[in-house]
Amino acid sequence: MIRGRTERRQALGVIAALALLLACGRGGEEAARPVAAVALAPEAAVAEVAGAAEVAAPAKTSPEGAAQLAEPGAAPTRGASEARGDIVTIVIGDFDEDLRDAVEAGLEASLPVEIRRGPTWALPKAAYYPPRRRYRADTLIDLLSEAATEDAAPGVRYLGLTSVDISTTKGKHRDWGIFGLAFCPGRGAVISSHRLRKGAKGREHFAFRVTNTAIHEVGHSLGLDHCDEPRCPMQDAEGSIETTDSSEQVLGPGCAAKLAELLEGAAE
Ligand SMILES: [Zn+2]
Ligand SMILES: [Zn+2]
Repeated sequence: MIRGRTERRQALGVIAALALLLACGRGGEEAARPVAAVALAPEAAVAEVAGAAEVAAPAKTSPEGAAQLAEPGAAPTRGASEARGDIVTIVIGDFDEDLRDAVEAGLEASLPVEIRRGPTWALPKAAYYPPRRRYRADTLIDLLSEAATEDAAPGVRYLGLTSVDISTTKGKHRDWGIFGLAFCPGRGAVISSHRLRKGAKGREHFAFRVTNTAIHEVGHSLGLDHCDEPRCPMQDAEGSIETTDSSEQVLGPGCAAKLAELLEGAAE
């Protein structure tokens, strides 16, 4: 059967969307899997994986989709927009106050964002995953995104901060413990201090890790993909703490330029 030109163009569009999807999964991450309506709403969930592979009973699949492609190495635009992103921090369950202070100060120092403190939420039962006694990060993001959408401030992002272990589905692993998760771009992101404490050289180093993870996930929610820039917080964690520990909490020139462009575009 011969397809009409329009049909062929549509087919090419689908192929292009799938190529984008595959381009999103980098390094140790599994290639993103398409979900419904993904071609219409290009988004991707990017998980910072950690811990041993664990397979458990079926759980909700993670939100994954196509990413906006970054332009690594793009020259920073001089006098670029001073457009800023609004971030609301939401403690989910518990989160140490000194860590929250560090995260909020670190975000404002590293990204063109303004922080507003939101309320503390009780741990949502809907996100609990009993087989591993973890909370599903994708469900938490759904709730955070919903709250962000209902917020009076346009374009605001909600960042969840929690000390419980959080997880997502990664490849064949139904439930995989992670440091944080975000859509790229998206209105909700979540980080957990649970896995970052292990091996930290003291409280300061622990706070440094938590802050780096927050910068990374908020970067995703603002539309930044992973990069290969040395010590840039947007490097792929690739299942280890290494890039988190080596981050200098300053975006590389490629990511900085891309973010300025994204924020400027959003402000127009
Ligand atoms: Zn990431
Ligand atoms: Zn970068």
